[in-house]
Amino acid sequence: MDLSGKRLWVFDVDNTLILDVEHPTPFEDALRLWRALEEKGVTLAILTNVGRLSSRQVHQALEKGGFNLSVENVFTAGAAAAAFVYHRNPRARCFVICEGGVQEDFIARGLDVTNNPPIDYVAVAADRGMTYNELNFATKMVKQGAGLICISGSRDYPGVYLGQDDVYIGELSIAAAIEHATGSEAVIVGKPLPEIVLETLKIMGFEISDSVMVGDNPRSDIAGGNAVGMTTILVQRDPKNIVDFDSGTLDTNPTMTVESLDDVIKFL
Ligand SMILES: [Mg+2]
Repeated sequence: MDLSGKRLWVFDVDNTLILDVEHPTPFEDALRLWRALEEKGVTLAILTNVGRLSSRQVHQALEKGGFNLSVENVFTAGAAAAAFVYHRNPRARCFVICEGGVQEDFIARGLDVTNNPPIDYVAVAADRGMTYNELNFATKMVKQGAGLICISGSRDYPGVYLGQDDVYIGELSIAAAIEHATGSEAVIVGKPLPEIVLETLKIMGFEISDSVMVGDNPRSDIAGGNAVGMTTILVQRDPKNIVDFDSGTLDTNPTMTVESLDDVIKFL
């Protein structure tokens, strides 16, 4: 396979470049491919389903792992959710449940982030410090007509919180409580939603045919890339670190499967 004409390489983060954002140990094969692509002068970007951190926070984790790129090239599920809301209502008042800095991505879009009614959108990311009152308020706002957005779609995920290395319930499970209480259905904004993959390519200014998606997860990275017609590369990592996402009827078969990202370098 000839990948020499590909000008934009979009990478997943967790379990592809680094173990995860709370364990930013890089994969050595990923670093070698990254360096090889840098030498080729192609554009490198990130599209991650990490929903509890802002683009800047994910950028920091990547820098710790040795992956250098411009913060403008980091696209998170949170930033995608902000774009999703903005395209529907640029003046929306948003209640955002999130442990990290996703509010920053909403504010950067010019959206009004607030804890008080009226609320147009409730957006839920993973939040290990969330209170009952926040969940109850979010539920009331959705009952009163606010749209419900789930920022990324993991039921649970591995991480470290207050020194505790564990598996934690994710945003999909928090959103499910609100769905259960209200009868409303959340829109899941994250890979594999084709709209956010297209938005990333549009902002970066590249054609689909010039772009490659690289990731460890068939149901998020590969399904999302395939859905818009990108070349997709699956790297086989430890299956126990692959987070479960719902890919519906999307095609999860990659263009290429590799055991190590070193195997991609010869095709550049
Ligand atoms: Mg991953």
